[in-house]
Amino acid sequence: MPETHEFQAEIKQLLDIVVHSLYTEKEIFVRELVSNASDALEKLRHTQLTEKAIADPDLELEINLTTDDKAQTLTIQDHGIGMTRDELVEFLGTIAHSGSKAFLKAIKEGGAKNDNLIGQFGVGFYSVFMVAKQVKVYSRSWQADAPAHVWTSDGSGSYTIEEVADQTRGTKIIIDLTDEEKDYATSARIKTVLERYSAFVSFPINLNGERINKVSALWLRSKNEITDEEYTEFYKFQAHAWDEPRLKLHFSADAPLAINSILFVPQSNTEKFGMTRAEPAVSLYCRKVLIDPAPKDLLPEWGRFLKGVVDSEDLPLNISRETMQDRALIEKLGKVITTRFLKFLAEEAKNRPEDFDKFYDEFGIFIKEGAATDFTHKDALAKLLRFESSRTDAGKTTSLADYVSRMGEEQKDIYFLIGSSRAAIERGPYLEGLKARNLEVLYCFEAVDDYVMRNLREFDGKTLTAADSADLKLGDHESEGEALDKDKLDALIKWLKETLGNKVAEVKSSDRLVDSPAAVLNADQFMSPQMRRMMKAMKPEGEAGEAPPMQVHLELNPRHAIVKRLAEIKDADHEKAVLMAEQLHDNALLAAGLLEDPSTMVQRLYKLLEQV
Ligand code: ADP
Ligand code: MG
Repeated sequence: MPETHEFQAEIKQLLDIVVHSLYTEKEIFVRELVSNASDALEKLRHTQLTEKAIADPDLELEINLTTDDKAQTLTIQDHGIGMTRDELVEFLGTIAHSGSKAFLKAIKEGGAKNDNLIGQFGVGFYSVFMVAKQVKVYSRSWQADAPAHVWTSDGSGSYTIEEVADQTRGTKIIIDLTDEEKDYATSARIKTVLERYSAFVSFPINLNGERINKVSALWLRSKNEITDEEYTEFYKFQAHAWDEPRLKLHFSADAPLAINSILFVPQSNTEKFGMTRAEPAVSLYCRKVLIDPAPKDLLPEWGRFLKGVVDSEDLPLNISRETMQDRALIEKLGKVITTRFLKFLAEEAKNRPEDFDKFYDEFGIFIKEGAATDFTHKDALAKLLRFESSRTDAGKTTSLADYVSRMGEEQKDIYFLIGSSRAAIERGPYLEGLKARNLEVLYCFEAVDDYVMRNLREFDGKTLTAADSADLKLGDHESEGEALDKDKLDALIKWLKETLGNKVAEVKSSDRLVDSPAAVLNADQFMSPQMRRMMKAMKPEGEAGEAPPMQVHLELNPRHAIVKRLAEIKDADHEKAVLMAEQLHDNALLAAGLLEDPSTMVQRLYKLLEQV
């Protein structure tokens, strides 16, 4: 008697999306089923390395497709690892496996952007229900004593499972096609679909008894024999993608390790929509045999946007991450590949700057992450960073190397400012002192930039310095206009310290200001204004009052009319002078993006206006 099971709720949802709205190119179901058959054969090959008792040990490791246009069916069979009863329930009835889980999560979070998601996830097995009235999965596990079962479903709410006799090891899927899709029961149709990507499957594929593919690994062939179309088809097959690769690197090396590799950068960064974190996707092979489809420790974290394959003859087939020796080998391999890929990006930047800029727009965030976290490749990554600056046009960027080449002899540091936009940085008080001294300043607009600059610390021996940091020392500069004399200035500073109390850590005169009367500087070297703002944003409602008091340095421009005026009236008109001092302080906070409570400032402004 067949037992009936309900699909897990998530699977029902997934089926609904896949069947009804998602894919316009239904033929990809063939690719998905063949890729599962190929995976199952790879797994068997691996199991054979360690297990002796394997069911039907003499079966060929191949994939067989048969069409029957009378019966309107397509059958796909492999002699791979197979599934036990429990595995059928888990793998085909629950969301346990990763691809679908990530897909569903992205669909939920992506909302209206679903179109962008097509093809960024392999929906796998369930794609068969785009074309099927009913699907029967016969499967027998490699474990010699496990009985075979048939799993049957029409892809609506439930499926059945029943024990069957007389099955060989592996899986046989019989697809009962819908009337609209009965074309897939013809040899001609399936052949066209298979020809597109079967060359990338490393097991023989037969259609109605006829061999379709020469088993050949694209990455082992010579570059000049491979067409762009082949690369693109390989990318689509390997990465389960629908787009064309944005960049491609095919390379071989003999020393220090024998490597054949193809790496792809996709069109778009899937993490950009604030969705699921990308998983490593560069597969590891040894002499065409898949060792790990998604090794976590091969490439550095920031390389998780890459797709492709790495094949090295120097790896043992039964590589084990438990042994030091094998771990060291993987690490060495990853280092060689990463170095090569970064060299490739540097060449792209030099030879095709426009393409590189487009790449950087989409994937620059990973380069930044790497520059801040990957100690091994830090220098090469830093060379790829791009920023707008006070010398570039809006929207145009410069590299750190180009910045350095423009530095004057006296200049020791690379200056940067963090702000929400070009306009915000140029309006603020921090730029003017550097501009007046003809010093270039990099503009940083992204939330991570602060973190990146702090971690990177230096480039080409030059310190990366925030132009709004309190300890910034700028050289002498011929300023225009008469400054307040020293006695008056000292008295004003003393008075301001008393008047502003614990709102300021220090008040001092500054030579960095040109047009602004005052500026606040970050006195806390461990918490930048940006970090402070982030902390504030993350705090739950009502807890704002508990933040430690902000300790800023207030810098005064001794040449500015407002400062001179304040020095004049501080004794004569105490009440007005206090209002002015507080307003000056708030204005400076506002310019730094640090003003926490504008309502007090508004009240004070009214009072000041009354006196006009
Ligand atoms: P994915 O391949 O991304 O894991 P699929 O939906 O394509 O997702 O397949 C789900 C799971 O079902 C696979 O992970 C595998 O465990 C199992 N499976 C599918 N087809 C086969 C097969 N031909 N032989 C053995 N197991 C299979
Ligand atoms: Mg699959």
